[in-house]
Amino acid sequence: MPKYFKEPKSKFLKVECNKCSEKQIIFNSASNEIKCRNCGETLAESTGGKAKIKAKIRKTLE
Ligand SMILES: [Zn+2]
Repeated sequence: MPKYFKEPKSKFLKVECNKCSEKQIIFNSASNEIKCRNCGETLAESTGGKAKIKAKIRKTLE
């Protein structure tokens, strides 16, 4: 067992927009706000390195 386990910094998430149900692949460590490419709704907000996901997460891709 390693002494410490470092959580993977970045993952891809498949999310669904709350507004228009557009599906989009985003990065959970995005440093910028991510908006829906279809309607402009905020999908993720940056909170100091880790994105705060506001959309529905459908799948986590590692
Ligand atoms: Zn949308």
